[in-house]
Amino acid sequence: MFDINNILRENIKNLKPYSSARDEFQGEASVYLDANENAFGSPLDTAYNRYPDPLQFQVKKRLSEIKGVPPRNIFLGNGSDEAIDILFRSFCNPVADNVILVPPTYGMYEVSANINDVQIKKVNLTDDYQLNMEGIAEAIDAHTKMIFICSPNNPTGNSINRDDIETLLTNFKGLVVVDEAYINFSRQKSFIQELTEYANLVVLQTLSKAWGLAGLRVGMAFASEEIIEVMNKVKPPYNINEASQQLALQALQNTTQVNAWIKEVLAERDKLVLELRNFEFVLDIYPSDANFILVKTTDAKGIYNYLVQHGIIVRDRSKVELCEGSLRFTIGTPKENVILINTLKNFK
Ligand SMILES: *Cc1c(COP(=O)(O)O)cnc(C)c1O
Repeated sequence: MFDINNILRENIKNLKPYSSARDEFQGEASVYLDANENAFGSPLDTAYNRYPDPLQFQVKKRLSEIKGVPPRNIFLGNGSDEAIDILFRSFCNPVADNVILVPPTYGMYEVSANINDVQIKKVNLTDDYQLNMEGIAEAIDAHTKMIFICSPNNPTGNSINRDDIETLLTNFKGLVVVDEAYINFSRQKSFIQELTEYANLVVLQTLSKAWGLAGLRVGMAFASEEIIEVMNKVKPPYNINEASQQLALQALQNTTQVNAWIKEVLAERDKLVLELRNFEFVLDIYPSDANFILVKTTDAKGIYNYLVQHGIIVRDRSKVELCEGSLRFTIGTPKENVILINTLKNFK
């Protein structure tokens, strides 16, 4: 059985969190002289002179309606990258503990582990970019606190087999972090509905991709109430600024626009795959559940440099193990995708 007390760091278990002015008085008053703010106002039209809600209740309430998860199971971070860092700081003792990463995958797990001086055990994905379940089982030891699974996976684009993730959730005594940054583009269903089933599940999502709000820096973690409480205790008190909270709330009203974009991205992705197949330098296009495709080519460096010369930037993943020769193309607007294809037609 999973028990959060078996994986929580002792210093975090005993941590008395910072108590902000907004924590100590909640409710409505007419005169606020408790937080050393500028009582006169701000140079801007909007009332940015006041500290924001530390627990972002309005945004969570709206997210709760969209996701079908109660606000108490939602953590908001300054991007999901902040949620990743907070998981390390909450659960992993520097030097002593380790996490399992399954490359090729999103780079921030490794960077965050390194910043926190947490050991990394890498178990490469198989040739078809799925989990090496035996390898993972062998890698787990008494100090393994978390396993990071990105699904759909960045940079390969495929979803990870659901049964395998469930096997890990059932058998692993630490946290299984399922990063669903690209879930809106996926045929697979989210793990968010499994939170009541698995006490060791953390699902990461973000407003940076499908929602078109990368500049606002709002990421989400969904987990049990006890995990969320720990994360809230460790996070900086005002980690989502007032402008981001207001704008996120406003954007979250517009699901219609976002759903239309997702549809269009998927249609464009299919079109791009068909077009790219015609090029001799394209060896393989991996099936994608995301808003990008990984394309194996005969000359990744050459194509990358050629595209840069023509003002088109893609992601060179050819130095990444298991992605040799591959470039990652984000799906652009129809016009951008035509420019990409037409430019590639002149590559020699
Ligand atoms: C883009 C991306 C993120 C980062 O999300 P932010 O919310 O912008 O920090 C997280 N995970 C994966 C796999 C990503 O590709």
